[in-house]
Amino acid sequence: MPNSYSLRRGTLYHAPETVPARSRTPLRRNSAPLIHESPLERRRITVQGLVQGTGFRAFIAKLARRWSLSGHVLSDSTGVIVEVQGSEPSIEGFLEALLTDTPPFASVNSINTELLAISAAESEFTEMQSQAEDERHAIVPPDSAICADCLRELFDPTNRRYAYPFISCATCGPRFTIIEGTPEDRNHTTMHAFPMCRTCQAEYDDPSNRRYHVQAICCPNCGPHVRFLNKEQRDDRDAVAIVAAAQLLAAGAIIALKGPGGYQLACDALNEEAVRRLRQSKRSEDRPFALMVPDVETALTLCTLDEGECALLQSAQRPIVPLTRRDASPACQLAPSVAPECCTLGIMLPHAPLHTLLLDAYRRVVSAERPLVLVMTSGSLSGEPVAYRDEDALARLLPLVDGMLLHDRAIHAPCEESVVRDIAGGEQILRRSRGYVSEPLSMPWKFPVPLLALGGPRDNTFCLGKERQAYLSQALGNIESPEMLLSLRESLAHFQRCFGIQPEAVAYDLHPDNLVTRYAHELDIPCKIGVQHHHAHIASVLTEYGLTASVIGIAADGSGYGTDGAIWGGEVMIADLVKFERVAHLAYVPLPGGEQATCQPWRMAAAYLTRAYGSDLRALNIPFTHKMEYATWRTLSRTAMTMQTSSLGRLFDAVAALLGLGSHSAYEGQAAHRLEMLAATCKQPVVSYPYAIGAEKPAQLDVVPMIKAIVNDIEQRVPGAQIARRFHLSIADMFANACAEVRAASGLQTVALSGDIFQNRLLLEELVALLKKLSFQVYINRRVPPNDGGLSLGQAAIAAAQLR
Ligand SMILES: [Zn+2]
Ligand SMILES: [Zn+2]
Repeated sequence: MPNSYSLRRGTLYHAPETVPARSRTPLRRNSAPLIHESPLERRRITVQGLVQGTGFRAFIAKLARRWSLSGHVLSDSTGVIVEVQGSEPSIEGFLEALLTDTPPFASVNSINTELLAISAAESEFTEMQSQAEDERHAIVPPDSAICADCLRELFDPTNRRYAYPFISCATCGPRFTIIEGTPEDRNHTTMHAFPMCRTCQAEYDDPSNRRYHVQAICCPNCGPHVRFLNKEQRDDRDAVAIVAAAQLLAAGAIIALKGPGGYQLACDALNEEAVRRLRQSKRSEDRPFALMVPDVETALTLCTLDEGECALLQSAQRPIVPLTRRDASPACQLAPSVAPECCTLGIMLPHAPLHTLLLDAYRRVVSAERPLVLVMTSGSLSGEPVAYRDEDALARLLPLVDGMLLHDRAIHAPCEESVVRDIAGGEQILRRSRGYVSEPLSMPWKFPVPLLALGGPRDNTFCLGKERQAYLSQALGNIESPEMLLSLRESLAHFQRCFGIQPEAVAYDLHPDNLVTRYAHELDIPCKIGVQHHHAHIASVLTEYGLTASVIGIAADGSGYGTDGAIWGGEVMIADLVKFERVAHLAYVPLPGGEQATCQPWRMAAAYLTRAYGSDLRALNIPFTHKMEYATWRTLSRTAMTMQTSSLGRLFDAVAALLGLGSHSAYEGQAAHRLEMLAATCKQPVVSYPYAIGAEKPAQLDVVPMIKAIVNDIEQRVPGAQIARRFHLSIADMFANACAEVRAASGLQTVALSGDIFQNRLLLEELVALLKKLSFQVYINRRVPPNDGGLSLGQAAIAAAQLR
């Protein structure tokens, strides 16, 4: 974001296309307004973005008064309209502050100004009621992490909110998670249970107060309180409760804690026994746990951090940021079970005042020598929805933990942590949830009818579209049980109520056999549009950048149902929002055992070896040919295996299994993840393995030469890291060359990359570099995840384009 704003007639300012998170950090605070003697002028300023709502109007009013401007502010369906009158330098200062001091809950996409005639009869600045009442539907801002001002008050013993865990203001605090419905006012949030005391009411009514019209306003006299519950049912209040929880944590206990968007489970990340116990009670096997640290300095003792990652950690969204782990240093003995085998750690800073206070109390009960690191993971068993209602948490979590830190402010909409990384010159959201939801995504075109896209069964999100806005739900997890489907339905009902959307069409994934698709068919919406999985992935990128012309799309994916009934996932297509043509794909291999192959990579190794060497594999000297697996394979290969796959994820599994990185995975993608980590340890330059790109239509990307070369390398005892690195490069090289061939035939210059295998940093960076070298224009997902969390946006865009 530029830090100067030049004021010309009709100036149009466009915020960057990337995630606005970092740009929201004020670049500099303006000093006190100057007194000017210049002649008066009057301007109309139209602000677009996430700007509707009383909070933003109050911000504008305060700013205008600070710069001694008269005029008014109102919002309508196009955005916020401001008219200001004053000296030119004051208006210029006002505009600059508008951009640099934007509250974290708002984000400005564009500002348009025009000159008006001076109004003689005006002396003050007023806030006008919204023109269209209906427009209020569209306002449910995301939660925002505690701001610097509130942080200062939190630790100021003279402040009336000293050490009060529910402190918030116009720029920070809970929003999405406590709003029950619209219009956005205090009666429609879970704060209606706490009538304001006279002091809070006075702040709420005072336009010059930073808690003016803040729904979550409260204080120790009138607001919610925390209590601590352990096996003896002890019940304390606020400060005492937090210290009790900290003491128990220091003693190696597991604590359940009511975070802003749901219960979380915490324990000391340096205590191996505690972490292992947490893992067992969560039944989460090998998945890495996220960590919460008090500050960037502590993060630096664990991981390396660049400037972008640093800003991301401290942004108002406070996501979990995957960071490269430092080689084991004596400064920090992180428990091995935190993130077994991982070369990255998911780190976040405290975002709720309750977290801040807990870490502060923790600092006081443990030795000053050691870093403060807590495991902070979602309060649910793996495969279950997160607990956010107290009764439910008491029933499900209390038996698993040693104590519970709860409070009486209800969570209306559960919302788990977001995950965002810094890659290829910007931010990329991997899980879009707390801090981002429900900020609408502005579309460059209009939805012809209100519509719903349901996403896929894994990493589910749904998307509601209306007019020019797409409302993407919070991350809802894998919809593989009736309980998970119920949480999707509850969330959908909530979104429909908040945004006033009655969908007239529903888009769904073509895979016939999953709960989400079945739910789509049950819905009482006559217009149903099935969307191919990988087309939706590519469309999600097109939508982010407003691309409407055809592009070359590469979908690198674990699995998705193809139009021919096979499981696709290594696809090159020519696509726009209406249609796609599959122009190349990984050559099919059998998917032995169907779904089972996902968690048993040896099956894919067997499938690829059989393709390369025929059915007798006993002569090969590689880890896979263990007796039992081989015997099973012999049986399998005799039974009919009709399911075929072009999945790139399964090819990664196969190569991982060949390299002995586990023939079984605790979760989908674990073997491929190990392969990436191994490859990352190889620092020497490598060249691509051989492969073939066929001349048929669609072209077959044949990796048999690659598999043979890899087997040869394994037999020659070439280090695994080098093989893994070469394999990554080869895949990138193959897709880059496939794009070059598509360009030769079609003239297309633009490539869009999506799909969950592009969460692999090494592969993504390698491919982007190769494509750029070939002078392609490359686009990747930024604001929605490349995994199935972004699928619903792509489906919505395709359905809209097909209906138009
Ligand atoms: Zn604040
Ligand atoms: Zn109060």
